[in-house]
Amino acid sequence: MQRLPGVGPKSAQRLALHILKRPEAEVEALAQALVDAKKQIGLCSVCFHLSADPVCEICRNHNRDNGAICVVADSRDVIALEKTREYKGKYHVLGGVISPIDGIGPEQLTIQALVRRVSQQKTQEVILAISPSIEGETTTLYIGQLLKPFTKVTRIAFGLPVGGDLEYADEVTLARALEGRRELD
Ligand SMILES: [Zn+2]
Repeated sequence: MQRLPGVGPKSAQRLALHILKRPEAEVEALAQALVDAKKQIGLCSVCFHLSADPVCEICRNHNRDNGAICVVADSRDVIALEKTREYKGKYHVLGGVISPIDGIGPEQLTIQALVRRVSQQKTQEVILAISPSIEGETTTLYIGQLLKPFTKVTRIAFGLPVGGDLEYADEVTLARALEGRRELD
């Protein structure tokens, strides 16, 4: 249980005790639901956001602007940005940030697919929305350099503390950060 995000030793113990007290059929149903979720949910083949279908709902939505791609580290950031209802373009989920200490280089992320996407379709703007940690900054600058020959590259204006996570920002702060985006130098 402790391997689940946000579950510490105490919560893990509470969950274990709860499960022990439940009827076996109920626990089996819960386990099956987790296995099904794991089997059904994959990554969108275009933007790498979590999706039960080969291409996610956002990528399939023709009412959304194809000319804008918002680049985020994680699927949780897509969900956070969607809550603002401000952004009408598409996304690209990197699957993390560049972090040599953790052995994560550009090859471990979906950066190549992003460059391919941007160079092959008419992209008016790429918006980098990556948390401003040291690794996030490195990732932002790296991708910015790669994409500048193809399109306009902007980054969202963080009113967030350095190291602040996108997913913990409230909707108003995120909407403002998106609105106040500026071109990467
Ligand atoms: Zn998608």
